[in-house]
Amino acid sequence: MTFAPYKTCQLCPRDCKVDRTQGELGFCGESATCRVSFIGPHFGEEPSFTGTRGSGTIFFSGCSSQCFFCQNYQISLRHEGRTVTPQELLAETRALLQKKVHNLNFVTPDHFWPHIQSLCRSLREEGVRVPMLFNCSGYQKPERVAEYAEWMDIFLPDFKFSEPGLAQMCMGDEHYPETALRALHEMVRLKGFLEPWDVTGSETAQRGVLVRHLVLPGQVGNSLEVLRSLRREFGPGLPLSVMSQFCPVPGCEGKKEFQRRLTAVEYDQVLELVEELGFEKVYTQELQEDKAFLPDFKDPGNPFPGNKK
Ligand code: SF4
Repeated sequence: MTFAPYKTCQLCPRDCKVDRTQGELGFCGESATCRVSFIGPHFGEEPSFTGTRGSGTIFFSGCSSQCFFCQNYQISLRHEGRTVTPQELLAETRALLQKKVHNLNFVTPDHFWPHIQSLCRSLREEGVRVPMLFNCSGYQKPERVAEYAEWMDIFLPDFKFSEPGLAQMCMGDEHYPETALRALHEMVRLKGFLEPWDVTGSETAQRGVLVRHLVLPGQVGNSLEVLRSLRREFGPGLPLSVMSQFCPVPGCEGKKEFQRRLTAVEYDQVLELVEELGFEKVYTQELQEDKAFLPDFKDPGNPFPGNKK
């Protein structure tokens, strides 16, 4: 099966226009052959998605953002993974649904969107009704969001950078802040805020948007501006997940503060502003020393040490 959008690929803001069907690689580093690194229940997402039976994650290899500090660097930067045909992807997704996961969670889906769209079409035709999640970097083309929204119930975008210079340094596009904000406006316009909101995970989310922000060591100013712009654009009802779990990965070598973990003082500064701005629906994290949710995709059976076997 050939998917036309891969021919002159403009699926993401990089607009590489390469012919992925001929094996050419753009910024995301992936051809038109779908590759995945892990398909299985995952218990490391927020309780709204994990619930009691896990989120049905499908991790795709490659990424259009290419942040050097990526916590999933093995698959996003080093492209570890295995190829799957559309038929295999469908069969493995059906097997995942047999495990009674609460949702299907497509992680870094943009550069394999034609495959995912086709998969979702088949699943919906078969009567699958679980919520579909678009779990992404925030670096989406705003004009593509409406098409995603036809198939997805939930958007789970990052909002990583408010500072153009930091975005340029980390992922090579100073336009990330404005691009991500425009895409986020579309997501909220089309799906609203995440609902139901239940931090216990008893009632898992069915539709809407939750924004994630990973606080980076030495970059508190970036996080504070992220919060201010989200508050200004969307008000205090926007559901947020403010994450502290940053862990240095090999790409951080030689990059000053990125070589250490976040401190409690830094995280507290960010949480103080969360409170001051009056955000009403917020997930936070304990500052962790362990690496429970730093994945190791070399263990394809269970890359997440914190997952139940
Ligand atoms: S999906 Fe990949 S090849 Fe296509 S425009 Fe984005 S980075 Fe380039």
